Amino acid sequence: MIPILDSKRQYATIGAEIEKEVIEVLRSGQYILGKHNKALEEELSKFIGVDHAVALNSGTDALHLALRALDIGKGDEVISTAFTFVATAEAIGIVGAKPVFVDINKDTFNIDPAKIEAAITPKTKAIIPVHLYGQPADMDAIMDIARRHNLYVIEDACQAIGALYKGKMVGSIGDIGCFSFYPTKNLGAMGDGGLLTTNSENIKNRVLALRNHGGAIRYHHDEIGVNSRLDEVQAAILRVKLKHINEWNKKRRENAYRYNELFAKCSDIITPTELDDTYCVYHQYTVKIPNRDNIHKMLQERGIGAMLYYPIPLHMQKVHEYLGMGKGSLPNTEKNTEVVISLPMFPELTAEEQRTVADTLIQCIEESKALV
Ligand SMILES: *Cc1c(COP(=O)(O)O)cnc(C)c1O
Repeated sequence: MIPILDSKRQYATIGAEIEKEVIEVLRSGQYILGKHNKALEEELSKFIGVDHAVALNSGTDALHLALRALDIGKGDEVISTAFTFVATAEAIGIVGAKPVFVDINKDTFNIDPAKIEAAITPKTKAIIPVHLYGQPADMDAIMDIARRHNLYVIEDACQAIGALYKGKMVGSIGDIGCFSFYPTKNLGAMGDGGLLTTNSENIKNRVLALRNHGGAIRYHHDEIGVNSRLDEVQAAILRVKLKHINEWNKKRRENAYRYNELFAKCSDIITPTELDDTYCVYHQYTVKIPNRDNIHKMLQERGIGAMLYYPIPLHMQKVHEYLGMGKGSLPNTEKNTEVVISLPMFPELTAEEQRTVADTLIQCIEESKALV
């Protein structure tokens, strides 16, 4: 059995240090908004290359509070992609705005900048590009459109911490960056967690208040906020893990390139495309294959933990029925939904396991061809 992700292997390498830090927090009596929260925010703002980082309860909250901080809500439209995790669009819905889905580039899986301008209306307030699977979106083109139309850019970098676009960390390019520390992400907590990054002092102050019941001063409440603080145990764990993120991302990349080589001989498998001058961090290693659903089943039967991210595009989810975007409205998104499959990918995955994954996948493709 080769799982898509094995968190226990990572824990085996850093568990002792994490346990020491966690016990110290437990004994300290300071469980919320303490020294680890503050230190983590400083370390992460430095790492990402922004002036401010605010630790939050989840990536979903980072997206949601980003929109709140920019005063986006009822009657507004926000452009994003339907080929992502639901939280991207959910955040738009939470604030009462309307998601406007634009099709993806079929090769990069990210929003196609060439299709953004046609979707802009007088109600459009922001664009949320997603750096899906750890691959940076085409930020130059997106920022150019946003500046010309006076729109905010919120980067959904939940899958891409440490990825670079033309030498800049993702999450430092738009007005706001959003990150998730969900346990399976490249930098994962042992519970929920998230982060919002920005160079704007105003946005930072607004989010600091929003995450703590809408007031910067205790028992003074200026607006309706939420409870979205990151707890000290998670902050302490993340600080230990942050020291390893570059090395872990590097290993993910090495694994991705090893897969590329292993699949080079099989023309039925389309391996991931990288944009020029980007440093992709392979949150997922996702390929396109024929007979995807059959092969997914065969892989599972043979002990390969392959997954479909994501099996239903967001414009075709029940929650978005009201948008009236039926089948055929986003051709690249819909086509990719039918052919993508994500293979085991994590830093500790061995070369031997990768060979087994590759041999099994190629074998399954051959067998499924023989059937038709
Ligand atoms: C994980 C993820 C989120 C949400 O993060 P949570 O911390 O789980 O709330 C948002 N967008 C994308 C693209 C994600 O992968």
